[in-house]
Amino acid sequence: MTPFVYTAQPARVIFGAGSLSQLAKEIDALGARKALVLSTPEQRASAEMVAGLLGPRAAGVFDRAVMHVPLETAREARELARKLGADCAVAIGGGSTAGLGKAIALDSGLPILAIPTTYAGSEMTPIYGITESGLKKTGRDIRVLPRTVIYDPELTLSLPASLSVTSGINAIAHAAEGLYAVDRNPIIDLMAEEGIAALGRALPRIVQNAGDVEGRGDALYGAWLCGTVLGHVGMALHHKLCHTLGGSFNLPHAETHTIVLPHALAYNSRHAPQAMERIRRALGSRSAAQAVYDLARNNGAPVALKDIGLRAVDLDRACDIALQNQYPNPRPLERTAIRQLLQDAFDGVRPGA
Ligand code: NAD
Repeated sequence: MTPFVYTAQPARVIFGAGSLSQLAKEIDALGARKALVLSTPEQRASAEMVAGLLGPRAAGVFDRAVMHVPLETAREARELARKLGADCAVAIGGGSTAGLGKAIALDSGLPILAIPTTYAGSEMTPIYGITESGLKKTGRDIRVLPRTVIYDPELTLSLPASLSVTSGINAIAHAAEGLYAVDRNPIIDLMAEEGIAALGRALPRIVQNAGDVEGRGDALYGAWLCGTVLGHVGMALHHKLCHTLGGSFNLPHAETHTIVLPHALAYNSRHAPQAMERIRRALGSRSAAQAVYDLARNNGAPVALKDIGLRAVDLDRACDIALQNQYPNPRPLERTAIRQLLQDAFDGVRPGA
């Protein structure tokens, strides 16, 4: 057995259909009395429903969470929490809302209770991102890790099938890269393979029937595991490429992950055979890269960067940015091969086995 270091991160998880009903009890368990409820503008109704469940434990609702957490928004939310005397925050939504909660926790120390409604996995990580003057700064700090997470599959029934598929493959990307992370370990490997398998089973069911609570439960279970992987080990080429494409070219987060992942896996495949074997096995296919590509294409997700707003003239610059800093990756970063990877992702070709 290869030597390893495993540091477990504290997280209390309440999982199951209907588990939202335990919210007030969980706020009490945190030792908190008044919660500021956070959401995006689109999920205001969910935030109000949560505030209703909290009754006197609700301090108010802040519904201005957006992608990439602008510093000004985080400041406004923090100031509102202070004014209302909130001693915790409840973030209901996807990665954008969890991200706002983390930004509040970072310098106020307020405990966060997260209620994820997508499969992005942010609620299980100590990773935060804040955007100031157009630049996104990311970091790791255990203070931002939500103290409690309530996973209630019923809250994901409203997530459109298209976003469910791309968000689910975003989660798979965390697990896939966790399997070849420099700091990987056997516990995380188990979670990663199980998480990929659960999402691989669930996504086609959700596309067939978005109201399938069993399928939704499987997907959320997979998202929890994949998010845990992201929280515990370092990521590599795939996450770097998606960060570049999202940050510099303003491409949508989950779709970008969905399109790039098969090509990042193909790039690394010969240099990480054990990881590929686990991914392949989890998805019941002969090739990890092809299995992810097929999961996306067969379930109606985009497979080409040209279809989500990237221009051909951007490819050279994307390649330059991705190569700017060296970072651990199973296969060394080779300019010609990475430029080809981006071209393949741009055109949407099915990767070779
Ligand atoms: P998101 O949170 O931006 O949500 C996308 C849209 O879907 C929003 O309008 C939201 O209100 C809506 N939505 C969410 N759940 C819904 C539901 N159940 N029903 C109907 N609509 C729903 O998208 P995301 O992909 O979850 O998160 C992306 C962001 O999270 C990015 O900024 C990314 O960088 C960040 N992220 C961070 C981490 C981390 O560890 N820090 C991990 C993953 C993602």
